[in-house]
Amino acid sequence: MTKVKNAPNTGDLKAPDYTEYSSWIEYWETENSRLLLLDWNKWLYKCPKCGGLFAWSKFDGAHVIKVYSIDSKKYILPLCQGCNRGKDETPFDIDNNLLLPMPNKK
Ligand SMILES: [Zn+2]
Repeated sequence: MTKVKNAPNTGDLKAPDYTEYSSWIEYWETENSRLLLLDWNKWLYKCPKCGGLFAWSKFDGAHVIKVYSIDSKKYILPLCQGCNRGKDETPFDIDNNLLLPMPNKK
C-alpha cells in the first residue's frame, strides 16, 4: 500500500497538453483497467478514497502525490468526482499499482 493525497491546484493541468488523450481518466486507462475497481456484485466501481460505489462516468482522473516520500511526482488515479473536486487533502492508502505517473508536458 502507498499513502497518497490529492495534489492541490491541478485544475489547469489539462490532459491534451501532456498526452494524446482528451482526459486524464482516458490516459489512466491506457495502462490500467477499470476492472481493477469494479465491484463484481454491484457492477459499480469503487472509489479508492471514499469507498463509494459509482458508475464509471462519475470518475475523474485525479492528480495525487505520495505523502511521507521523497518522490514528489504527480500520479493519475481514478477518484469519484466528489473526492476529486473538493479541497480535501487527507492522506489515504491505495494499491501502488493503481498509480500512473503523470507525463511531462508535450
Ligand atoms: Zn470518492
